Amino acid sequence: MNASHVYPIDTHRHADASDSCRRCGACCMDSGPALHAPDKKLIASGRIPAKYLLTIRRAEPVWNNVIGRIEPAPAELIKLAGRDSARACVFYHDHGCRIYVDRPLECRLQNCRRPQVMRRYYQHNRLNRSHLIQSIAGLWDMVVYHDNQCAHDAISGLARKIVHGDADSDAVAAMTRAIGFDRELRRLIVERYPRYKQMLNFILGRPLYLSLSAHGIDASEREGKIVLRPTAGPSDGSQLRGRQHPGTS
Ligand code: SF4
Repeated sequence: MNASHVYPIDTHRHADASDSCRRCGACCMDSGPALHAPDKKLIASGRIPAKYLLTIRRAEPVWNNVIGRIEPAPAELIKLAGRDSARACVFYHDHGCRIYVDRPLECRLQNCRRPQVMRRYYQHNRLNRSHLIQSIAGLWDMVVYHDNQCAHDAISGLARKIVHGDADSDAVAAMTRAIGFDRELRRLIVERYPRYKQMLNFILGRPLYLSLSAHGIDASEREGKIVLRPTAGPSDGSQLRGRQHPGTS
């Protein structure tokens, strides 16, 4: 990480009468922010390197802070990746923000004591991959093809059938085909474009097999074959958090 300065966030400061942000770090520890149009320059300039971005694709299961459960993302978004089991923002270190001067819009608006400010903005002008990489011929074709082959709404339908024991062999084959395609395309991108190796979670989103935990399915590989196994229940959402509904968690 290039950013070397840590701008302290005081986790011990007590509440006072004002409603200004106490910089307690609670939002940084909960999740990295989603990015908006004004943040595009931070990425284009390299101040926020693309390897620290995570794409949440449309209909991907994510944690909803308001209702306290996992639900499909209504639209694609890009956020700063997490650290430590995908919760604390990747730039949150030693009780401080490593990019404080260049922090994204949501970090500037977020204030536990004035959540209405963030609520007004957090769904507006969100960045998605088309704003950032649509002009890269070849790569964008792969992104679109991947979205078609691995659409989360189709995957969720298949997952429901598997969990409820309603899946026929075609449904299981479709699921393993999608997981295999996702894995193979990642390998292909790294082979053709080694410089993208650390950006795969931005270019294609999370590996498909990881999202299955939200449906209560474990996907593993045995002797070259993908094996699907229902688990005791869906993930608790700790791997799936996004700052979806600010100030309400
Ligand atoms: S970019 Fe900085 S201020 Fe924003 S969530 Fe991450 S650590 Fe906190």
